[in-house]
Amino acid sequence: SKELGRNSFQMYKASMNARSLERLSMQSRFQSALENGEFELYFQPLKCLVSSRLTSLECLLRWHDPNLGMISPAQFIPLAEELGLIVKLDEWVIDRACAQLAHWRKANIEIRHLAINISAQHLTQGDLVSTLRYALGKYNLSGTQIELELTECSFVSNFQRAKAVLTELKTMGVSIALDDFGTGYSALSYLTKLPIDILKIDPSFIAKIPDEYGNSEIVSAIIAMAKALKLHVVAEGVEKQEQMRFLQKLGCHAMQGYLYCKPLTQAAWYEFYQAEKLT
Ligand code: C2E
Ligand code: CA
Ligand code: CA
Ligand code: CA
Repeated sequence: SKELGRNSFQMYKASMNARSLERLSMQSRFQSALENGEFELYFQPLKCLVSSRLTSLECLLRWHDPNLGMISPAQFIPLAEELGLIVKLDEWVIDRACAQLAHWRKANIEIRHLAINISAQHLTQGDLVSTLRYALGKYNLSGTQIELELTECSFVSNFQRAKAVLTELKTMGVSIALDDFGTGYSALSYLTKLPIDILKIDPSFIAKIPDEYGNSEIVSAIIAMAKALKLHVVAEGVEKQEQMRFLQKLGCHAMQGYLYCKPLTQAAWYEFYQAEKLT
């Protein structure tokens, strides 16, 4: 049994080594991916449901691994969080997003708002205010052009710090969106305790419009509540005409989803913008 114990310990040690090796190699993979330009920002346009026009864009990260092909952010964002690399990745996105805004300004592309996703860990592990302030200065941009999308996970671990960071961002003119609304537990109190401007209804609710029992009532209640709190409401994952009509009827301000447009490369976005300008 002592022998067995030693064996299983050896096995344990071997698997630990394998795991830390894997971790190490993933860390250096991320690093080289950043350096080799394997990450790319895509842009998904949002449509105003009042004017039926383009209102803003959300930056969505893509990773093209030369061997594995395209890896979804749903896979690599949690991994980057686990490896402690997410702040670095967010910082890369912030720099690229701001560079893009400056580039579009030169090309006479008017983008009122560009939305950037910020990982929950960023509010406690990084210095978001300094990073953003630096990027705005570097590219000569106003904070009013930036929206930051956060999930309520960001507020759970350190509410006081989160509040201080958001308050500071507000003084820079930045807008704050609460992403994936409706999927968490305690978001309702955050809506009044934090300086939130925009509420993004999670696609899981939109997908069930209008068929599933009770769901339409929930969506309509969320929209009514958001409007009563003077928040801007965005519906995500809108894929069907009837979903859009339903949202429009309830006075939802904007929508995002394949019905209007999927996430685009920067070149495809440029074409989309030119076509949109003519209509
Ligand atoms: P999210 O912020 O909720 O982003 C919306 C996701 O819904 C995107 O997936 C988008 O491609 C997808 N989507 C848009 N319209 C539709 C639709 O009509 N139907 C369906 N089924 N899906 C739609 P994506 O790009 O795979 O991103 C997944 C998540 O990864 C994001 O969810 C966000 O949490 C995270 N993420 C993406 N880019 C970044 C980034 O730059 N930084 C950070 N920290 N997280 C990011
Ligand atoms: Ca988002
Ligand atoms: Ca979302
Ligand atoms: Ca999300």
